[in-house]
Amino acid sequence: MPEKELRALLDAQPDILWGFADISYSPYAERYASALVFAVPYGEQLTPETYTEERFENGIQSARVRLEAVVAEIEALLRSRGVRYWVPPVAQENETELLAPFSFKFAAVNAGLGWIGKNDVVITRRYGPRVRLSAILIDAPFAYGQPKTRSECPEDCTLCMDICPCKALKNRLWTIDSQRVEIIDYQRCNRMRSAHIPRLGRKSACGLCLAACPFGQTSKGQKRDDRNADP
Ligand code: SF4
Ligand code: SF4
Repeated sequence: MPEKELRALLDAQPDILWGFADISYSPYAERYASALVFAVPYGEQLTPETYTEERFENGIQSARVRLEAVVAEIEALLRSRGVRYWVPPVAQENETELLAPFSFKFAAVNAGLGWIGKNDVVITRRYGPRVRLSAILIDAPFAYGQPKTRSECPEDCTLCMDICPCKALKNRLWTIDSQRVEIIDYQRCNRMRSAHIPRLGRKSACGLCLAACPFGQTSKGQKRDDRNADP
């Protein structure tokens, strides 16, 4: 298994957060022992002062392009070494459950990249929630990250809740056993975002509850200070 080469490939892009997770919790564990999970920062790290839906969507898309390039590099390496792997799709399987087949979020907390915030997304120390996640399932064991098992949100922080236009967030601190429904009314969030389809030709990206998060927030557009950031 080219673990050293994989680590070297990712270390060459120091702004990307990544780690390995043991996925024995997953139905895919019969075929793949591990997930390599990574978090690419959005192109623009927006705050409520700089947020517009268009800028947020553009930041997501630029992270997506970069992520696809990284995934392609890793796939090429794994293929060349004959290692079995699978890149799970991002897309939700249907509009009822609104769940993807393999949860990148749950893999990210198991890899130790962050915890689930009161806004129901992964919060990293370096970028807060302003990252796009992906994962590759790999049929090999690795040195795994230390899983996060509880929220590190300040108990009294309500910034993401306060800014949500449809009050979908429930002010619940996450633990590893939490269900999504305890944290967010996802259908309500989805209805609000879907209401923009006639105007935008797609759901609204709505990143207000991400922009509001103080974790990873640079102070009013200044350059980020990474000295206190997680690796
Ligand atoms: S994405 Fe928008 S609508 Fe959904 S919870 Fe966050 S702020 Fe609310
Ligand atoms: S805004 Fe506050 S409560 Fe919401 S995710 Fe960020 S730290 Fe947690």
